[in-house]
Amino acid sequence: MRKYIIMGPQGSGKGTQAKMLAKDFDLVHISVGDIFRWHVQNRTKLGTKVQRYMKEGRLVPDEMVSDVVKWRLDIHDWRVGFVLDGFPRNAAQAEFFLENFDIDAVIAIELPEEAAVARMQSRRLCSSCGLDYNLIQLRPKVPDVCDNCGGRLVTRADDTPEAIRARLRDYREKTQPILDLLREKELIVAVDGTPGPDVVQAEMRRRLALGPGSIEALPAKQPVEVAGAGVRSLILPGLAWQYSRHDPYRRTTGTA
Ligand code: ADP
Ligand code: ZN
Repeated sequence: MRKYIIMGPQGSGKGTQAKMLAKDFDLVHISVGDIFRWHVQNRTKLGTKVQRYMKEGRLVPDEMVSDVVKWRLDIHDWRVGFVLDGFPRNAAQAEFFLENFDIDAVIAIELPEEAAVARMQSRRLCSSCGLDYNLIQLRPKVPDVCDNCGGRLVTRADDTPEAIRARLRDYREKTQPILDLLREKELIVAVDGTPGPDVVQAEMRRRLALGPGSIEALPAKQPVEVAGAGVRSLILPGLAWQYSRHDPYRRTTGTA
């Protein structure tokens, strides 16, 4: 079992790195931000509550975050492990986390603030399949059009200059201090986030003593398809479950 947490300032590429790691090692990528965005997009009750915080680049209240994380981990759909991305972000969340879960390592991607700002400003997202682009490093073949699905590329609602500033301030003031706490527990594996994605990924694997590929010869995971949910179910299989008509978790989560 491999249970990782990935941390780093906004724009450090933690989502990209988490996806790369998850794909090759059959881990489940759990992004708290993606889960919240899903709720906003689908106008759930939780989505309505968190929308304002997200748009302004503020942290969502701890209770909602812990509920979502707990619910997501309770689905228990991983066989070899998970990469948790975007949690914990402050002392209260770290406390909840350390009390409830045991993990193997906290991967901390380091990136200077100026570089983080530049990356966020050049970040684009496909409005239909959710794929990430970057106008500096990962440019689409045709401007504003997704290479993967032809969807329109948009700027994330929280990548405005004000929201970027607020998010980075929270990172510096609330998240950074918990990294120090985790460092004391010798859980931190720090990697330099300045080079391109492949270099960062290789360094991360080296530091985690992971080989270049799959850790166990397990059959490939079947994507969960839910009628009408389209590509979203592939991005967030666990969530697609929750909203399927026959979903056993629906009544018990209390998050939607
Ligand atoms: P970023 O790391 O660039 O801020 P994410 O996609 O990880 O982007 O998160 C988007 C937003 O979701 C955050 O700005 C915040 O409003 C909310 N969010 C995500 N994770 C947490 C968390 N652990 N605690 C509070 N809010 C969170
Ligand atoms: Zn797309």
